[in-house]
Amino acid sequence: MSEPRVSFEFFPPRTKKGNERLARRAERLASATPEFFSVTYGAGGSTRDRTVETVLTLRARGLEVAPHLSFGTASDDETLTLLQTFREAGIGRIVALRGDVPSGLGTARQLRYAEELVGFIRKHTGRTFHIEVAAYPECHPDSTSPDDDLVFFQRKVEAGADSAITQFFYNTDAYFDYVERCASAGMHIPIVPGVMPITNYAGLTRFADSCGAEIPRWIRRRLETYRDDEESLRAFGEVVVTRLCERLLAGGAPGLHFYTLNQTQPSLRIWEQLAISAPSSQSSAPSSQSPAPSS
Ligand SMILES: Cc1cc2nc3c(=O)[nH]c(=O)nc-3n(C[C@H](O)[C@H](O)[C@H](O)COP(=O)(O)OP(=O)(O)OC[C@H]3O[C@@H](n4cnc5c(N)ncnc54)[C@H](O)[C@@H]3O)c2cc1C
Repeated sequence: MSEPRVSFEFFPPRTKKGNERLARRAERLASATPEFFSVTYGAGGSTRDRTVETVLTLRARGLEVAPHLSFGTASDDETLTLLQTFREAGIGRIVALRGDVPSGLGTARQLRYAEELVGFIRKHTGRTFHIEVAAYPECHPDSTSPDDDLVFFQRKVEAGADSAITQFFYNTDAYFDYVERCASAGMHIPIVPGVMPITNYAGLTRFADSCGAEIPRWIRRRLETYRDDEESLRAFGEVVVTRLCERLLAGGAPGLHFYTLNQTQPSLRIWEQLAISAPSSQSSAPSSQSPAPSS
């Protein structure tokens, strides 16, 4: 089986200086030989220019970058122009999303599903881009049922998605069950777990509540006890997430995608711990001993 892939996600900083700082962080993370760095695209396209700037800054340093993209409020022509910009910069991967309604717009605006964007990219650019889509082992918060969620995920795959990255979770059963259900439905694209390092109690719980990710009670309760002790919270978080990643890789997950929140150390330390604990590892990447997953 091939080495598990690793990738790191950033959000676009607000300033040029911030971009430069982020590029230096990406260079540090490059020691983990990531397949790519992805850059988020704010709800409704609210960070479009900043996303492009961050993507081009990282690309100029020779890094593999995958911009996140959604239709947002852009016209088809604007979306095409963006794709052209990415193609000219030598970018070969896009994370295609529906995105969420930006605060302030309410629910009046019709969002276009990610499936439509995947089809649009394939129609206009053929196989230029490897397309990643989002997957939700614990179910997307808007979905009417887990079965519907799977049907809509399948439509993204049929529209041309090459692989998927999951919402973060702390329950490996949810991931393996999801991968199994996808395989039973005939979907065999790699489904890479999204991993959220634990570094901050309030931020994590807020984010988890908003995107429908469950923090198991035992983890929440332990984190509560470290509310005023950042060092202990980080140490506990590192152990919990490293074990989660170990179980995922041992069970056959094809890689890991870290939601870095633009921090270097939490993700890198987890990746390094994994490299240390991998039995036959000679390099910086862990090697899973398990058979390939059904995805
Ligand atoms: C890896 C990853 C990266 C992300 N990056 C960003 C980012 O950069 N910017 C951002 O704003 N958000 C981002 N998000 C969040 C994401 O945009 C939200 O979760 C959003 O609500 C759904 O996007 P999606 O692409 O999964 O949507 P979709 O796949 O379109 O699904 C959205 C919902 O609609 C349902 N659905 C899908 N198709 C249909 C249909 N035809 N009819 C009826 N219902 C349907 C689905 O079941 C689901 O409930 C990311 C999420 C992940 C997992």
